[in-house]
Amino acid sequence: MATFALTWVYWEEIERTMTTTDNRRLFYDLDRDDLLGFVEAGGWPRYRADQLYDWQQKGITDFSEMKNVPKTIREALSDSFIAAPMSLVSLEASAFDGTKKALFQLMDGHAIETVLMRYGEQRSVCVSSQVGCAMGCTFCASTGLGFVRNLSVGELIGQVLLMRKESREPLTHVTVMGIGEPLLNLSALIPFIHRLSDPKGLNISMRRITVSTCGLPDMMLELANAALPINVAVSLHAPNQKLREQLMPIAKQVDLETLFDACRQLITKTGRRITFEYALFDKVNDRDEDAMELADRLHGMLCHVNLIPANEIAGVPYRKSPADRVKRFLALLEKRRIVASVRRELGSDITAACGQLRRKRESWITP
Ligand code: SF4
Repeated sequence: MATFALTWVYWEEIERTMTTTDNRRLFYDLDRDDLLGFVEAGGWPRYRADQLYDWQQKGITDFSEMKNVPKTIREALSDSFIAAPMSLVSLEASAFDGTKKALFQLMDGHAIETVLMRYGEQRSVCVSSQVGCAMGCTFCASTGLGFVRNLSVGELIGQVLLMRKESREPLTHVTVMGIGEPLLNLSALIPFIHRLSDPKGLNISMRRITVSTCGLPDMMLELANAALPINVAVSLHAPNQKLREQLMPIAKQVDLETLFDACRQLITKTGRRITFEYALFDKVNDRDEDAMELADRLHGMLCHVNLIPANEIAGVPYRKSPADRVKRFLALLEKRRIVASVRRELGSDITAACGQLRRKRESWITP
């Protein structure tokens, strides 16, 4: 079965995780138990572990910032760990809606993007899950640079903590919708979700965490087995197999019916509604017949369709659907009793599409 061959590739990729320029681990890779183990191994009082954790949550980038921690402990930390998981290269802010987009450089020199979005009182950070992406979606700015490696837990949580520190804003939501396919990095994704929701840490409810996937059935079932009450969004973008394969090459390995079956199992296991992401491209997937076929496919499923007026990207052969087409597509779905909405466009005056900043940066640092 195609999905079996695909699984083998996934695990090979998961093995290619975090590497740094020296042998020290990232301080942010340590969770509370790890910090306690470090403190106990050094013979220091247990409350020191809480102090170290508090400093990590503040987004420190240098151990000298730990003012209430003795020098001996800071030196021991520095011998074994790298304080900062990444450094900020640039932070663009939208003059229209306050969206902020950060470009971070990792310790091995690669770049990732993280975005902070504002909707009313909500402050949502969108993180990348991998350096580059192997999925090759034909409408995506990340596609040309290919896949490099998975991000570690520390690099995932680091994006959230450093974005909070840089923007000086309290966070309410986290989405894993940036560059990469998060379900190919499940071994870091699941502990990351637990750390986000730690009451002694960021304390973000799992119901406010969303993971977006291209739709990899085996991995979706594995995520379902982890029984996390998070939101799952599946990038669908087409109502049928043929069109989906044109937009998303990974679809050639994932039959649409197999994907919908995995979605139904995920809904049954979590009891939560699933979201289908549908980016609209002019005269490609935004016709009346596409809306009607989509409605027929999703009939009876506990789901929500999120229509996305797609960003236009240089070198990508698709145009954004006109506003009246988006409206009509939405109306056709609603007429057939499919719950749907149109995603707000944020950060339109900055390089808003995922991968655009990184593409600029990597073309600059790659010989
Ligand atoms: S849209 Fe997402 S999954 Fe597809 S290539 Fe881009 S980063 Fe990867």
